[in-house]
Amino acid sequence: MLQFEVIMKYVDLHTHTHISDGTDSPKELVQKAASLGLAAIAITDHDTVAGLPEAEEEGKKLGLEVVRGCELSVESERGEVHILGLWIDQDATELEKTLTFLRQKRQERNAIIVERLQNAGLKIDLEDVNAVAQGETVGRPHIAVALMHKGYVSSVREAFNRYLGTKGKAYAMRELLPMEEAMQALKKAHAIISLAHPGLISCEDAWLDSYVGKLCEHGLDAIETYHSEHPPATRQRCLDLAQKYNLLISGGSDYHGHVKPHIHLGVGKGDLRIPLDIMQKLKAKHLEQKN
Ligand code: AMP
Ligand code: ZN
Ligand code: FE
Ligand code: FE
Repeated sequence: MLQFEVIMKYVDLHTHTHISDGTDSPKELVQKAASLGLAAIAITDHDTVAGLPEAEEEGKKLGLEVVRGCELSVESERGEVHILGLWIDQDATELEKTLTFLRQKRQERNAIIVERLQNAGLKIDLEDVNAVAQGETVGRPHIAVALMHKGYVSSVREAFNRYLGTKGKAYAMRELLPMEEAMQALKKAHAIISLAHPGLISCEDAWLDSYVGKLCEHGLDAIETYHSEHPPATRQRCLDLAQKYNLLISGGSDYHGHVKPHIHLGVGKGDLRIPLDIMQKLKAKHLEQKN
């Protein structure tokens, strides 16, 4: 009797490289994804699209689909909210201006954090931080690694607890984008827009519900339902919101390499699986919107 083996294919639509605060190069990330047998990955670095060409080139070589993405942070009444853009245009001039502005704001904030660290008696300067960063977007995880290199802390976690987290000695706010501006810039770049990891926003269910409603007025396409930090109840909550607001579903590990060692590419904490079918629906909407 013939036996048919159904080979399920999986994707990961939320990953970071060393162009922002991950630790793998775009090429390495694509190679890892291919060796895991993933069918596609989205590279979604914070505030930059500079890693995409290298990833796309490697993807072509290895037969792995690379989705052009990025992750933006916007302000809200409940603090930082993250938005993913997927299938961003090659030539996204307006978005590039927004990204440049955001990176500039990061540098200003990094200078303030470093000054606060110096005031606390630590010998560290911006060059030490920038030397850790390999790409365009420099953030707190790079400062954390610089503090580790200097022996002030023994882990990224400790750096956040003592110095860089909201309750840390050297914490400084970062200027974020108004939500409307981020949505508009992504829309102009013909991106599919997904609300990233809603489970990580510290808010009540009712607030999230009305916020998703507001995002929809600005063109939200999807909600990131499958994520390493989403327990089953959060996943269900996202599925309910997707149904209520007629949204597509997206999913990704939010892999960052060894600065977040407990999160693995494709599988998150081990049990995350994002079927190819999820990506195909998002891609179909992208193609429909673009044409
Ligand atoms: P930034 O973009 O510079 O504000 O830094 C945010 C990054 O720091 C995100 O990738 C977070 O996951 C990471 N982060 C925030 N809090 C912590 C923490 N307590 N331990 C480790 N990483 C953290
Ligand atoms: Zn990050
Ligand atoms: Fe995020
Ligand atoms: Fe992320």
